[in-house]
Amino acid sequence: MKYVYFFSKDQSDGDAKMKELLGGKGANLAEMASLGLPVPPGFTCTTEACDKYYKLGKTKLFASLKPEIDAALKRLEKATGKTFGVGPNPLLLSVRSGAAVSMPGMMDTVLNLGLTPATIKALIESSGNERFVMDSYRRFIQMFGNVVMGVDHHAFEYELEAVKKAKRAKLDTDLSVAGLVEVIERYKAVYKKATGKAFPTSPMEQLYAGIDAVFRSWNTPRAEKYRQLNDIRGLLGTAVNVQTMVFGNSGENSATGVAFTRDPSTGDNKYFYGEYLVNAQGEDVVAGIRTPQEITLKGSRAWAKSQGVSEGERKANFPSLEEVMPKAFKQLDAIRVKLEKRYKDMQDLEFTIENGSLYILQTRNGKRTAQAAVRIATDLAKEKLISEKQAVLRVDPASLDQLLHPVFVKASEDKAQQIAVGLPASPGAATGQVVFTAEDAEAWAAKGRRVILCRTETSPEDIGGMDAANGILTSRGGMTSHAAVVARGMGRCCVAGVGDVNINYKTKRFTCSGVTIKEGDWISLNGSKGFVYKGQIDTVDPSLTGPFGTIMKLADKYRKLGVRTNADTPHDAAVAVKFGAEGIGLCRTEHMFFEGSRIVSFRRLILVAETVKRLREAHGIVDLAALQKACGKDAKAVEAIKQYRQALRELLPLQRKDFAGIFKALKGRPCTVRLLDPPLHEFLPQDAAGQKEMAETMGVKPIEIKRLVEALHEFNPMLGHRGCRLGITYPEVTEMQTRAICEAAVAVKGSKPEIMIPLVGHVKELANQKAIVERTIADVEQKKGVKLNVLIGTMIEVPRAAVTADEIAKEAEFFSFGTNDLTQMGCGFSRDDAGKFLGDYVEMGVYEYDPFQVLDQDGVGKLLSMACELGRKARPDIKLGICGEHGGEPKSVAFCHKVGLDYVSCSPYRVPIARLSAAQAAIRG
Ligand code: PEP
Ligand code: MG
Repeated sequence: MKYVYFFSKDQSDGDAKMKELLGGKGANLAEMASLGLPVPPGFTCTTEACDKYYKLGKTKLFASLKPEIDAALKRLEKATGKTFGVGPNPLLLSVRSGAAVSMPGMMDTVLNLGLTPATIKALIESSGNERFVMDSYRRFIQMFGNVVMGVDHHAFEYELEAVKKAKRAKLDTDLSVAGLVEVIERYKAVYKKATGKAFPTSPMEQLYAGIDAVFRSWNTPRAEKYRQLNDIRGLLGTAVNVQTMVFGNSGENSATGVAFTRDPSTGDNKYFYGEYLVNAQGEDVVAGIRTPQEITLKGSRAWAKSQGVSEGERKANFPSLEEVMPKAFKQLDAIRVKLEKRYKDMQDLEFTIENGSLYILQTRNGKRTAQAAVRIATDLAKEKLISEKQAVLRVDPASLDQLLHPVFVKASEDKAQQIAVGLPASPGAATGQVVFTAEDAEAWAAKGRRVILCRTETSPEDIGGMDAANGILTSRGGMTSHAAVVARGMGRCCVAGVGDVNINYKTKRFTCSGVTIKEGDWISLNGSKGFVYKGQIDTVDPSLTGPFGTIMKLADKYRKLGVRTNADTPHDAAVAVKFGAEGIGLCRTEHMFFEGSRIVSFRRLILVAETVKRLREAHGIVDLAALQKACGKDAKAVEAIKQYRQALRELLPLQRKDFAGIFKALKGRPCTVRLLDPPLHEFLPQDAAGQKEMAETMGVKPIEIKRLVEALHEFNPMLGHRGCRLGITYPEVTEMQTRAICEAAVAVKGSKPEIMIPLVGHVKELANQKAIVERTIADVEQKKGVKLNVLIGTMIEVPRAAVTADEIAKEAEFFSFGTNDLTQMGCGFSRDDAGKFLGDYVEMGVYEYDPFQVLDQDGVGKLLSMACELGRKARPDIKLGICGEHGGEPKSVAFCHKVGLDYVSCSPYRVPIARLSAAQAAIRG
């Protein structure tokens, strides 16, 4: 097995297609080198080597890896004309991770490897720049100490700060050679104290240890957490890229930077977006210690304007690369165009300028916000770099969620007290209570609070808290700082580098513009502008036109699946229609029994329901009027029946009004209404105080309510008296609901109601309910003198229904898969209790995903596809849909496309996600 792949101009072993084996970074370095771009040569140890590192163990792997490394090193020495570990022209290396999927900041990097007393001497001689060599060495000790040997980086920083203070140096760059030598001596002491060993002086020892550390970093908790949060699975490991060092910190004619070919926050393509620093190494740009400068003059001026920096000050202290190094800038700008054409996507690149010569260290498809993803995809299609179908595939459906959420109400934002301006690091609006640690952010969010995480800067350990927060504020760091990059990836609003904010972690407060904000105080962030406000600000729904509208139109052009929504109020229905819903796939009716006075009516019905049922059995009479008559002088019985009928009379107009409201909001789109589903005990108060109150309202003794609650108690209510089983026992409820639906449909012209019977397991259950529904429809039609066209169907949510779907289809004009219950009953996991262990199941890999979130395709999915097949056999034109939570989950939507459902139905905010997922499934085929 070949573990090492070489790359240098015109002699690369790999190319861009070999991402799985060489990692994204390695594959792109090989590709760029073959394209003739100025890439420092190097070699890549494969992801297979990383896999073997864990499978065979370090010793066994290195036995076969070392000879390949040694050979590649020889080749590298030849390509560069430099020698590793000896002068006069010593070769220094960087060692960097790079998996097939990029995981920014999640794994480790070591720079300046190969510095030893011998090479230091030679390098000083060859460069004539002792300060630069010493600065590189102190960075190397710190990185190697921290990354390879696990020495706490604070211990190094403490010493650096101490020397800076003693030497009265404000910035690192203010330190003289003597100062740096002192830092180096102190660093070596820190290293020795922590590791028990002297800092290694053998370059080969440094190199092997560096490679070993990158392999190890693949499985650190933070890397694992990142993969888990981003659903990155099935990778072999990380590759290790060993590359010739070039130095951005070798003087005033050197620089380093990161750039995006388009704006990663908005997707704009107005200018070349990026940041750089003169006389610096890569980590300085992202560490936030110095303020990075813009690459282009245009960008620099826009930045200055947003920060209130005058043109004079900008020019003097923060000039653009375009102004400072025009030749290198021009070359970089040309490379930007070349790379976009080659990769047909927005690129994120790292570059270094060493003594005026430009080098590209990395290119990759840039991380972007959802807003930018949509914009870039539609723009690239317009520019004919990609096709419409490719544009549709470019946007992650789940990320659309970020575009659907509110932004600040302008008038409310205008009135708010702005206390600071930072960098607009990740767009959107966030309002929340201030917390200062990632742990607090997680803990407060778990209690349902909205929080803003405030940090001087964030680090990879903070990722859980960043995910839990509504917004993130940092007082240090640029647009490419950890906080900014991670927040954009998560779609979390972020304002970074708010220099005016002074955070005191001890007292849990920050001060800014004379205002003190304590833990728990409310602040608001505008991540699109970089503004920080005191207090809460009202929000509004975002615009659904522009690039978002374009991508949705393209999605609709290519998708085959219909997309409906689960909604049970006119408001939700209207929101969903705005998001593109083509109707309602599930209108749950239970809330219609809860609100206001209607709960009183329904409780009156429940109170006597059992009595009515018994009387009916005793007399053998179903019709309520006839039953009432037959009970004659039995005053109690007559009273119970009267109360039952009165409750139904009260509920009918209320439900009719509810349905009419929803039908109006749908403007002629179809609406699948599900008849009452939950068990009756859910409508009764379970606590003593509630029962007492109900007794008072009903004019009975509290004990009677208590007895009723006890009588309705079920050990397993989810498998109890619910769904169509209720309608079978209490046919008047089915009749009342059907009547309300039909009368509303008559009142609202163009309505298209569909009536859905829940929790059917046996065809006879359906036949029973269908007869009542049909009879009632006929009655309304006759009374109103109209013809209604109401489809009658059922949910498939009981496994027995799925396996007897051919029988069921004889009675049902449509099936809607209730995959919440079908998962509950199919897997045997209680919807209410499975949370206790399902997390472990997923972690252990028993189930790949939580089956209540992502459809279990091998099990529940099989029931579903079997039911489709059987259903179609019995009724070729049967309409098939899904209305469980899975209807808005991209992987499940793809499955629904595959089995040929007619539509999916999901909550309003997931409608765009479902539309795009359906289009992607259709395009992928
Ligand atoms: C289902 O079971 O999938 C369903 C949509 O119904 P509910 O969630 O209301 O039980
Ligand atoms: Mg259900």
